[in-house]
Amino acid sequence: MLGKMMHKPLTISSLIEHAGRYHSDTTVTSVETTGEVVHSSWREVESNARKLAAGLARLGVAQGERCGTIAWNNRRHLEIYFGVSGAGMICHTINPRLKPEQLIYIINHADDQVLFIDATFVAAVGQLKEHLTTLKHIVLMGPRDEAAAKTVPGILFYDELIAAEGDDYSWPDLDENMPSSLCYTSGTTGNPKGVQYTHRTTVLHSLGGNQPDGLAISARDTVMAVVPMFHVNAWGVPYIAAAVGAKLVLPGQNLDGESLVRLIDGEKVTLALGVPTIWMGLLQALEKTGSKAESLTRTVVGGSALPTVMIPAFRDKYGVELIHAWGMTETSPLGTLNHLLQKHQDLSETEKGAIREGQGRPPYGVELRLVDEAGNLLPTDGKTQGELQIRGHWIVDTYFGQDSSALTMDGWFDTGDVATIDSDGYMIIRDRSKDIIKSGGEWISTVELEDIAMSHPKVVQAAAIAAQHPKWDERPVLVAIKADESLTEAELLAYYEGRVASWQIPDRVVFVGELPLGGTGKVLKNKLRETYGTLLLDS
Ligand code: ADP
Repeated sequence: MLGKMMHKPLTISSLIEHAGRYHSDTTVTSVETTGEVVHSSWREVESNARKLAAGLARLGVAQGERCGTIAWNNRRHLEIYFGVSGAGMICHTINPRLKPEQLIYIINHADDQVLFIDATFVAAVGQLKEHLTTLKHIVLMGPRDEAAAKTVPGILFYDELIAAEGDDYSWPDLDENMPSSLCYTSGTTGNPKGVQYTHRTTVLHSLGGNQPDGLAISARDTVMAVVPMFHVNAWGVPYIAAAVGAKLVLPGQNLDGESLVRLIDGEKVTLALGVPTIWMGLLQALEKTGSKAESLTRTVVGGSALPTVMIPAFRDKYGVELIHAWGMTETSPLGTLNHLLQKHQDLSETEKGAIREGQGRPPYGVELRLVDEAGNLLPTDGKTQGELQIRGHWIVDTYFGQDSSALTMDGWFDTGDVATIDSDGYMIIRDRSKDIIKSGGEWISTVELEDIAMSHPKVVQAAAIAAQHPKWDERPVLVAIKADESLTEAELLAYYEGRVASWQIPDRVVFVGELPLGGTGKVLKNKLRETYGTLLLDS
């Protein structure tokens, strides 16, 4: 042998060990389910994570077994992330807003042995319990609570579980290819599917996604994960924050604009991440409270398309840069992030803004391509629309519990999104293939119609859907929330003239008080199609 480098497995325990050792005093702020704001530190998170790992071992939970969580973003949830995965178990984060039958399906399908729950969910879990056939332990994430013990007989208490352990547990050596966490897709059509990440994919995602042209989180940042910890591991932020020793803010249950403004100003948040609906609420709250969000320099927006008006709204008034990102549960999730290249530096703010409206470019570790319906490769000319496919170091191969791979014959994952990619690799999502409107053989992008509506000053939010049509198969219908009562359907339709081709203008506008949102804050277009899909047939 001529020489050899060390082989140190890429494990989740190595991330928290690093944070506990080299960033021990750095604060982790947590809004508890009680509403109290608690300041912890990476040292304490690491210590409690080890105690939890020891406690789970004492309960007889074995490596490779799944531990579910139904919880908000808070410090105990963070400790569970590291304690469960670090010990070789699999942290299965569950979206609390799923319907009871979906919760039962997911917990049983994942074969969860332990379920950690926030106090908010005690009553709901009490009702579901008899259907949760795999669970051996339910743990309330808090101190002893007699009322909870009555509602869920046999429930354990997190604080007691870790208080019973000393500080001498050390992380086991794990193979980096062992599974570490599990997340189900939202399952708007059919049953949800599980994506099981490994230690290696999680660490590579943390490193690859946090490059200077990625999330770029550093030890000087205070990062607030508004994106729920049950939404694709909060986009990897807990792991990345540990790897770089950033101050982390976990905002708990209340994600309304004013609660977020208080946290941003109180904790001096420099970077926050979440879906567009969150930032709409934040903009309104900034306006109302008069806060200038002085500390905030950038926000990462993803999960659904960024309304383009938000870029100047944040930039011009608050000096906040919006970073548009795209991804999916199947992609860990970071697939693309939008930053400029050197050649763009001399462009005007407006020109730069136009580039940054799209979903951006893949970081190292991810490749994208476009194909047509027959699987033929399409050009990346910025114009040709096709099915977006992806492959890379942190992309799904086979769904949890399934026998066959989800990939194409040549090893790519089909995202179900329709996109364009330009010669520099900038990708723009034109639609989800199940949402796009097919009108007389031509495609109309719902994303574009929504973006135009939301640039109208009298519109708060809008969603475009395909409505059935006797002649054209499908035609666009816009469902919108007014910001100003005086807005009429005719006025909004006239606003489209000159902004899209005349045949792309919606046939109708329906004004509503609110849009149906899913558990991760995205508009549920299938719900809207159920309600308004036959509107044009009826009339
Ligand atoms: P689901 O929306 O099904 O709950 P995911 O959170 O995995 O599950 O969502 C992934 C999908 O969300 C992508 O395939 C894409 O359609 C959409 N999406 C994510 N980010 C963006 C974005 N920045 N712009 C437009 N669509 C996005």
